[in-house]
Amino acid sequence: MANHATDQASLRSEATPEREAPELAPEEPEPEEPEPEEPELDPEVAARRAAALAHVRKFGDPVLRTRARPVARFDDALRDEVTRMGELMTDALGVGLAATQVGVLNRVLVYRVQEQARVAALINPEIEWVGDEQEIMEEGCLSLPAVHVDVERPIHVRVRAANEYGEPIMIEASGLEARVIQHEVDHLDGVLILERISRQQRKEAMRVLRDAQPGP
Ligand SMILES: [Zn+2]
Repeated sequence: MANHATDQASLRSEATPEREAPELAPEEPEPEEPEPEEPELDPEVAARRAAALAHVRKFGDPVLRTRARPVARFDDALRDEVTRMGELMTDALGVGLAATQVGVLNRVLVYRVQEQARVAALINPEIEWVGDEQEIMEEGCLSLPAVHVDVERPIHVRVRAANEYGEPIMIEASGLEARVIQHEVDHLDGVLILERISRQQRKEAMRVLRDAQPGP
């Protein structure tokens, strides 16, 4: 089953299955540390990812529960923010990132669901239509380390937004792209995937989060 983690590391599992770990992981040295969800990364990639993740707000930070404000000015500061978010997302091996996740309360999100594509930025996104059809897929979140949960969402969406220059754009998205956009728009509304799952799943996710948290 593919890991359709949303703003988390799914580029690797999505793309190029024929490049299945060629020179990674020579001989796993610590068999007592099982990390089923995280295949071994090149040390340089892993270091870049860790550095990027250090800039991402994690569960417990109140900013993640805060609704972001519409962007009114499409200036160089906004474009710098978009560039920085795109770099952080790329380094973190994520497929999407919302401004709230880096502590900025602007309605800005970036995403890229195909490795070769350029990073897309949506400013002030509005989901104006969702299809009736729903599907369940596994999602992760850069703000919820080690949590992977099954989330049901509409498969098709239509979104209106502006790009980083203030030009209106309309996107009709399906599948993973639609899912990532919905996940990130949720962030801009202060909503986490924990609110999109059953109570039972949430209990389990909270246990994973507690275990993953470094002690006080
Ligand atoms: Zn997320």
